Amino acid sequence: MGATPSLESAARGAKSSAALEFLRNSPKKLLINGKWVAAKSGKTFETLNPANEEVLALVAEGDKADVDEAVKIARKAYEEGPWASARPHDRTKVLLKIADLIDKHAEELAELETLDNGKPLFESKNIDIPGAAETFRYYAGFATKIYGETNPSDPSMFNYTLREPVGVCGQIIPWNFPLLMAAWKIAPALACGNVVILKPAEQTPLTALRLGELILETDLPQGVVQIITGFGPGAGSSIAEHPDIDKVAFTGSTEVGKLILKASTGNLKRVSLELGGKSPNIIFPDADMQQAVFGSSIGIFMNQGQVCCAGSRVFVQEKVYDQFTDSMSQFAKSITLGNPLDASTRMGPLVSKEQHDRVKGYLKAGKEEGAKAKIGGEPGKQERGYFIEPTVFTGVNNQMKIAREEIFGPVASAIPFKDENDAVFQGNDTTYGLAAAVWTKDISRAHTIARKLKAGTVWINTYGQIDPMSPFGGYKQSGFGRELGKYAIDLYTQIKSVYLKL
Ligand code: NAP
Ligand code: MG
Repeated sequence: MGATPSLESAARGAKSSAALEFLRNSPKKLLINGKWVAAKSGKTFETLNPANEEVLALVAEGDKADVDEAVKIARKAYEEGPWASARPHDRTKVLLKIADLIDKHAEELAELETLDNGKPLFESKNIDIPGAAETFRYYAGFATKIYGETNPSDPSMFNYTLREPVGVCGQIIPWNFPLLMAAWKIAPALACGNVVILKPAEQTPLTALRLGELILETDLPQGVVQIITGFGPGAGSSIAEHPDIDKVAFTGSTEVGKLILKASTGNLKRVSLELGGKSPNIIFPDADMQQAVFGSSIGIFMNQGQVCCAGSRVFVQEKVYDQFTDSMSQFAKSITLGNPLDASTRMGPLVSKEQHDRVKGYLKAGKEEGAKAKIGGEPGKQERGYFIEPTVFTGVNNQMKIAREEIFGPVASAIPFKDENDAVFQGNDTTYGLAAAVWTKDISRAHTIARKLKAGTVWINTYGQIDPMSPFGGYKQSGFGRELGKYAIDLYTQIKSVYLKL
């Protein structure tokens, strides 16, 4: 074992000695049955710092053989182990402990997240890491509140329901909120008594692996959480296809979501999908313009726009279109783009070269279709790293490629609308339906539009609020199933009806 030769350079600027220590201990391994093991193939892959394109660590490349092993262990842990039959209070204790450990190691986790993903430390510190702890804490409370019912059946019968765990759950997560997505998946699954096999994204495996280490410090029984790093085709597809996995929860692209659903038919495993979006963010002239500009900018530029619910289509009433897009461009201009470890940085690089190329492709497509980059529209001027300038495209119509496809970058497509009906029509004219927002002081209009928008979340006079207690998920091709809130309990339990003859 040893650090990659370039670690000091790859992680320069990191202050947490614990984060550096974690990186030095490379290659990273798979977590199976409470132990860290190399991939059976012996293969590893590199995880990079997207701010400087240097190697942070080598990571085990798990594939089918490792997934098979993880499933064997998980199945045994589920059927024979103490977790599914644990006292709910004991489950609560473990989940609270995980939350506390995340808090305790917050600084280290925030730096690892920023190094691996490129998001500003400002965001890792204030959103990702505390959000992950909060999610574990929220579901810790749920372990003791998963109720069945008694039913008014025939008087000669006593009929009641039990809510039981689903069993072995495969969980495949993306790179945009690595630790937070791991928490959204693992916390409710464990609260309900399931066992899990988590596959982090190849671009950002580090914080999930560090979470695995923290989980080993708790009383969670061995074999309840497996973490298999690797690639989508390989580790991911083996999970999706596996005949002995009972449920797959997936967050990522709509394209891969469809593959997951197809692969699930082999054993009809349960599937929940949280997929892409092209969310409409609608601004009326009576809105508080300052707040609308700020909220809409955060809505598309946060996390470099790599957010499934990003407000990527900004619909502005035609009377205020020029004024609003001017102000949004001014805001974009004020964003500090640079080294994500700097406390003052508000935008870092995109996660990978692949993503950088994709987004550059959309910038080109937007210009070719006749849209005008009022601000940005170019890669960042940094010598290294996958930077893109925050971009506001004007002169966009809802049929252009940049208005129809998920760009997953800091690119706002500003589209004019005439009136309420037009805003709702255009807003809903998309294959996606993850989120939407409306800015107006007219409360009746706000609530009417909230009802008409086909989206799993609607924000009024704000953008991007997410709380573990409120459901999150998509209409249409943004997926199905609702994560967070009490709804995730539905995803991770199944219901049994029991009749007793009196
Ligand atoms: P992706 O391929 O959908 O990645 C999501 C997860 O699925 C990753 O863990 C990935 O593994 C895995 N995966 C890939 N192919 C798989 C397969 N055949 N079977 C099972 N699992 C598989 O997303 P991406 O390629 O990283 O990004 C492409 C686009 O997806 C983005 O530009 C964006 O539009 C969208 N996206 C959406 C979200 C969201 O939150 N809704 C998140 C990320 C990306 P590997 O990464 O290891 O290959
Ligand atoms: Mg991929």
